[in-house]
Amino acid sequence: MISAAIINGQAQPVAPESADQRIENLLSKMTLEEKAGQMTQISVEAFLKTTNGVPDEPHEFDMRKLEEAIKRYKVGSILNVGGNAQTVDVWRRRIETIQKLALQERLKIPVLYGIDAIRGNNYTLDAVMFPQQIAQAASFNPVMVKKAAGVAAYETRASFIPWNFSPVLDLGRQPVWPRIWETYGEDPYLVSEMGKAAVQGYQGEAVVTDKYHVAACLKHYMGYSMPLSGHDRTPAWIPERELREYFLPQFAAAVKSGAKTVMVNSAEINGVPVHASKHILTDILKGELGFKGLVVSDWQDIQYLFQRHRVAKDNKEAVMIAVNAGIDMSMVPTDFTFTETLIELVKEGKVPVQRIDDAVRRILRVKYETGLFENSTGRAKDYPLFNSSAHNRLNYDVAAECVTLLKNINNVLPLSAGKRILVTGPSASSMRSLNGGWARNWQGDNSDKTEGAKNTILKAIRNVFGAANVEYSEGADFDKVLNVQDAVSKAERSDVIVLCIGETSYTETPGNIGDLRISDSQIELTRALSATGKPIIFVLTEGRPRVISSIEPLSSAVIHSYLLGNEGGSVIADVLAGKVNPSGKLPYTYPRHTNSLLTYYHKYTETLKFDEAAGFHPQWEFGYGLSYTTFSYSNLRISSPVLSDSAPVVVSVDVANSGKVAGKEAVLLFVSDEVASITPEVKRLRGFDKIELQPGETRTVTFTVDKERLSFINEQLQRVIEPGDFTVSVGGLKASFRYE
Ligand code: BGC
Repeated sequence: MISAAIINGQAQPVAPESADQRIENLLSKMTLEEKAGQMTQISVEAFLKTTNGVPDEPHEFDMRKLEEAIKRYKVGSILNVGGNAQTVDVWRRRIETIQKLALQERLKIPVLYGIDAIRGNNYTLDAVMFPQQIAQAASFNPVMVKKAAGVAAYETRASFIPWNFSPVLDLGRQPVWPRIWETYGEDPYLVSEMGKAAVQGYQGEAVVTDKYHVAACLKHYMGYSMPLSGHDRTPAWIPERELREYFLPQFAAAVKSGAKTVMVNSAEINGVPVHASKHILTDILKGELGFKGLVVSDWQDIQYLFQRHRVAKDNKEAVMIAVNAGIDMSMVPTDFTFTETLIELVKEGKVPVQRIDDAVRRILRVKYETGLFENSTGRAKDYPLFNSSAHNRLNYDVAAECVTLLKNINNVLPLSAGKRILVTGPSASSMRSLNGGWARNWQGDNSDKTEGAKNTILKAIRNVFGAANVEYSEGADFDKVLNVQDAVSKAERSDVIVLCIGETSYTETPGNIGDLRISDSQIELTRALSATGKPIIFVLTEGRPRVISSIEPLSSAVIHSYLLGNEGGSVIADVLAGKVNPSGKLPYTYPRHTNSLLTYYHKYTETLKFDEAAGFHPQWEFGYGLSYTTFSYSNLRISSPVLSDSAPVVVSVDVANSGKVAGKEAVLLFVSDEVASITPEVKRLRGFDKIELQPGETRTVTFTVDKERLSFINEQLQRVIEPGDFTVSVGGLKASFRYE
């Protein structure tokens, strides 16, 4: 709003009211009930019409319930969960209905609707579903990650939804954990770079997002991904030094890049549930990192302080602990006990009004910064690119950079035209396995077997190689063998077998497993096929690295496709045909043994070789990935043998495409701190770059390594760099420098 002031008789433009002023103005008018309502987030499921407890399709609202939430309890936020995906029109109608009611209220504060539109607006039918985060990490290409997030934001906003519970910045170093595929892998630097790119893609450049961007939500702050048992939402023991060294930096980087919201880890660290930790939420996040945005709880996690964690004797104590610890918004899901209890606690003086005001300021700021006060819904005609060919093409290009070739004996790949191919295995004809969880519904789309028209691996291979050359047999399911004999007889009349194995979709606690090994039925199918003597190409469609050491020797080639999304089938077929030259590299260590789960940046004492299983002999290392061409590295050089406080060292290397086809290469820079007061890791990723080279082309890749990049957290919990020698390694070459 522009107004004018008169100075010396002249009208002077006056700066528009700042966001802070608008927020303070609004806050000053709010009652305690309105403030507690803002801090409440209810699940959309609570408002859906149901028959016998099951939501009616297409999920219409029970207006009496919705009105109660907005008029009586004044809820500030609604989140999407469960249920099946809806059309974009259903979404728009829903959001319009909600906002219309909210804007009829005294202060006209729009509702902040949040959704898990991770790697695409997966709860909206026809929205583009990109590769899951673990696959995107394998691209080692933050530019692609940013573009994909930009499209995800556009398609989410096309459903009139302004808040996305993404990205996951948990460190993916525990492969048993059923959410490792939602991460950017095991390395904190890789997670930081990808996380920043995702935030920029979601939110755009401006502080106040335009109608094509959404608020990002960094989750699950922090230490969620390292449960001792490997099972979801179970205790982690992470000393504060390790928290700060490995789990905090990616959140710090993304907060610095402007992320507007943060969601909290459901589990406990060192005996303290994170929802009850003032130290982690207020001292570190809001204090040290200076986070000004909104901190939302995870699903029902305030009441779980009492019901599960038992650090509160009842719900009331749980609310008091969580809000005083620094939670600004409660993901309550189903009822209003949080709102009522919070009001009581404030009246009794157990939660200070200042804490409530701080929380509400943060919530209102996100509403301003997502433009909701200007326009709480949107106009359908502003989103012509929803599910456009441009968006789908980008999806294909992203997936093509993620797919990772792990083995290719005697260059069995790419396959020449005219080969007779048997396609088999439980994920060959399944979109569910390509997409993983959070695909059309929480645990992944169950309807894949009936949706024959979709772009499965089988369908895409038939398209690329010609249906007449391709036979199919399911062979086995993930948990039982089906028609192995049929697969074997078809293999006998084929030249090559494409065996699609891995996992079905899952996430969170339903995805807990007792054994990281690939299932027995798939092992049995592989062994039977191997007896035919035909070359077998494994396609690993899986969200976590399942141990395959018993059958890996039976393969001639291995393609790791992670969870490549809706274009995954086409990309895999094009890799088989040589139209896509794989350039992904592993974002995690692929274990050989279920109990040998070291990351690449382990400590020296962990590599003492007593026997094969005890040392560091993963199936494949972090950063491993082959190409159809070869890259040679030469001339590694360092600008100066000494790194000083004022001048970084500049590391350069020449990379040449020494093969016959064009290819992309992720160039990874590792640095080892030779001696340090905290036992140094054998090496750490400190830089990476993705380049494309034509055959015969050479490019110089340069990294600037400053002091900050080489620092670590010492015993006093300070970030330091100690004088001494450092070794740099790139593409197998090494060089050293000294910090004085
Ligand atoms: C998950 C979060 C998710 C939330 C809302 C929780 O169960 O842990 O990652 O954002 O549900 O759907």
